[in-house]
Amino acid sequence: MNTTGTSRRAFITRTAAAGIGSMALARKSFAAPDADTYFAGAAEREITPPIGMEITHFVRENIGVHDPLFLRALVLRDHNGRQLALLSADAIGAGFATCDEIRNRIKTECGMDEVWFSCSHTHSGRWILSSPTPGRIYTEELWWDDGTHVALTDRPEELVWNTEVHQKLVSAVNEAKDRLEPAVLKTGRASVKIGINRRVTRPDGFTQMGWNRNGQIVPWVSSLSAHSKETKKPIFVLFEHAAHPVTVPHHSKLVSADFPGAAVKKLRQSLPTDCIAAFSQGCSANINSFPLRTTHGDAEAAGFKLGEAALVALDRSQVITGNAIRFKTVPTLLPTMPLPSERIVEEQLQIQREHPDRIKQLMKIAHFRTTGQPPPPRRLDAHGLMLGKEFFLVALPFEHFSHTERWVDDHAPFANTMTFTLTNGGRGYIGSDKGLAMGVNGGYEAGCMPNWSAHEVMSPNLGPPAIGSEKIIQGAIEALWS
Ligand SMILES: [Zn+2]
Repeated sequence: MNTTGTSRRAFITRTAAAGIGSMALARKSFAAPDADTYFAGAAEREITPPIGMEITHFVRENIGVHDPLFLRALVLRDHNGRQLALLSADAIGAGFATCDEIRNRIKTECGMDEVWFSCSHTHSGRWILSSPTPGRIYTEELWWDDGTHVALTDRPEELVWNTEVHQKLVSAVNEAKDRLEPAVLKTGRASVKIGINRRVTRPDGFTQMGWNRNGQIVPWVSSLSAHSKETKKPIFVLFEHAAHPVTVPHHSKLVSADFPGAAVKKLRQSLPTDCIAAFSQGCSANINSFPLRTTHGDAEAAGFKLGEAALVALDRSQVITGNAIRFKTVPTLLPTMPLPSERIVEEQLQIQREHPDRIKQLMKIAHFRTTGQPPPPRRLDAHGLMLGKEFFLVALPFEHFSHTERWVDDHAPFANTMTFTLTNGGRGYIGSDKGLAMGVNGGYEAGCMPNWSAHEVMSPNLGPPAIGSEKIIQGAIEALWS
């Protein structure tokens, strides 16, 4: 354990060294024409926030580093020269403003045709924020999207770190591009359980967080790997599992990637040193890692278990045929649950007088009601990657319940599937229809007014998604492969 942490000087030194290392990497002499094959390359950068830059969630002091945070870039190219970058970061999340900025920048500066940015959702790291620009207006929507109430320009140290993270994403993609070589792609799966369904419905009907041992989870890890045609060695292993990274205790003041970091560590013990292992988060809105918030040692044990399963998936993986990368985005808007009744709003305006934030939200609702406008919808762009007949990867913004991943796996006409959430934007939860139909009893992830502990009640959408969202999401995902 490194409790001494990372000084700003050490961080800057590492950053500089990473840049030199990248430049020193000789561009591969490989210059063969794009033959009948896939091409793959990968790179990583450390993005550990310096001591003093608080970590979340829950928000707490940062006095050092238990294990460092990384971002990883995987680049795929097909025989037509189409290029896709899959990026994953040890971060709790990133909103649409941030993801749009990163994706557009990398498309422009690195010549990528498509870029996806995923967050592992570690609860012992930070949000990645969008860059302040001259004249930028910090609207409430942007505060919510960026997960902050303090402009980045008012936090000079974080502005430096955040800017470096954006730059490192670009440099990692460029390095991965430089490393592109003819590759065989493979996909695999193995059984593993490191989490428990966290939604418990009490006898009175109210849903709260707990351990629902019979509740649904996603009991597997899926992998997508690239293997050098020349050396046969793996170039990267991307693996996905669904569980909130919340085994690190919330009283720990040490930065950690939680179990995903330990899983990567486990994989690397068995992989060549230059092979990049990268984790992406599945549909974990209703799943917590187990045990919950105990010790760093427990997080490592859970991660090692996941890493061992990912190695089994790799071992069992099958070759992906074809030589073409197909990707697609289906832009979608999810309607929001109808506004609470006038009676509820009136009652709550009386009850919540000591809570200015809630009164503000109620006044907005009253305004929407008076003007006859529906509450704002959510942007939910679905992104799909199709490789051969064997592999389908869907990437979604926001956090989704496990049933979405199970549905994808049951319905997608491919041998193997992966579902990423917390990708390309979104802050908060998309409840299942069943959860949303519980109304005020729907709990933290799906509840509506006047359940003030429900996450989406304070959102700019003024409530959770509408019942029926499940069908809309499934329709968008089907449109990806059809
Ligand atoms: Zn979450």
